[in-house]
Amino acid sequence: MGTQNTSTTDKNGAKPNIAFIGLGNMGAPMAENLLKAGYSLSVYDLSESATQRLQQAGASVADSPKDAASNAQVVISMLPAGKHVHSVYLGENGLLAELPKGTLVIDSSTIAAADATVVAEAASNLGIDFLDAPVSGGTGGAVAGSLTFIVGGSVHAFAKAEPILAVMGKNIFHAGDHGAGQVAKICNNMLLGILMAGTAEAINLGVKNGLDPKVLSDIMLQSSGRNWTLEVYNPYPQVMENVPSSNGYQGGFMSKLMQKDLNLAMQTAQDTNVETPMGAKATELYEAHTVENGDKDFSSIMGRHDSSVLS
Ligand code: NAD
Repeated sequence: MGTQNTSTTDKNGAKPNIAFIGLGNMGAPMAENLLKAGYSLSVYDLSESATQRLQQAGASVADSPKDAASNAQVVISMLPAGKHVHSVYLGENGLLAELPKGTLVIDSSTIAAADATVVAEAASNLGIDFLDAPVSGGTGGAVAGSLTFIVGGSVHAFAKAEPILAVMGKNIFHAGDHGAGQVAKICNNMLLGILMAGTAEAINLGVKNGLDPKVLSDIMLQSSGRNWTLEVYNPYPQVMENVPSSNGYQGGFMSKLMQKDLNLAMQTAQDTNVETPMGAKATELYEAHTVENGDKDFSSIMGRHDSSVLS
């Protein structure tokens, strides 16, 4: 049996050509980092302004996903939701059927594990390596090239993808087989939604009982309630500098994206018959909150208790 080539570079060490599909808030800076690292990129997005930005950065612009991938050994996608991923790869003129065997496909969109598995199995039947590789780290991490990639798929495909992901991210985890990346990502974000809602609730209880939010936060930070939101992302305005709560809840990770991830967690829990009562409560809270605050950072859930912080 011959040994498999687990590298994306050819025998002369040349970098693979990459097709990048989906150049929004996350995809555009990720693609720009690949260009800066010397990769040759052909890009596609439905939005012309999105492709123009990448053209200016040195990418060639394609008219379709198929056109983008025509000379590529690697395809990366960063799309809004499962239906877009399904349509690009398996819909009418779906890309999978056009790709040569051995192509590496990395989908970094956050979608349901079940949807990722459907595309991965279709790819596998065609001899294509498919990875689900959702990210954590938001737009700041995408710009800085410091995303966390949480990857599901074969060890062989993961090894091929690692040097490319390392250009866009700092921490790269192999979570397991197909779909495992998506499961790990929504477990993390469900916990984050619970922690943020709980931290906002605790600070509000203290403030309503006469405590200074900064003093209370410092106490909890050195006590057993310590968690990531208190460490780096306090939801109460002016407790911390350079976080969305001290900037009118602008920037950061939008509440509607947190709600999307909580819904995906609930879908996975339902599909697999797993109880998630805390996750269900956080989903309910964010569902109500996003009606008017979907574009604000997810720490704005603080405003559920004290609407004055939102103005
Ligand atoms: P976005 O809406 O800013 O960008 C999506 C891009 O995909 C848009 O430019 C859109 O025109 C393009 N698109 C949609 N359908 C397409 C198609 N059929 N073919 C080609 N292009 C198409 O979204 P985003 O914020 O960049 O997020 C992308 C993914 O990353 C989502 O799955 C999201 O959940 C996830 N994510 C986002 C963040 C964040 O902070 N924004 C953080 C982590 C993960």
